[in-house]
Amino acid sequence: MGQLIRILILLAALWLVLHFVRRALRRHQRPDGDTSSPAPAHMVACALCGTHVPESEAVRVGNRTYCCEAHRRSGESG
Ligand SMILES: [Zn+2]
Repeated sequence: MGQLIRILILLAALWLVLHFVRRALRRHQRPDGDTSSPAPAHMVACALCGTHVPESEAVRVGNRTYCCEAHRRSGESG
């Protein structure tokens, strides 16, 4: 009677071990290709000097973008 439960627990433990091993292996296996380049940043041009900067670093005013705060001030005043 108790032997069946022991076997079931053993099988459950084995399944858990296999589950975690498979997950650990999958974490190490990465598809070959672009491992060096993360997500490509969207580049925007400065309205004043034309320098291309990542959208996240650009200073945005309305629909215009600037490469830095100084150029934003020059662009807005001039
Ligand atoms: Zn600029």
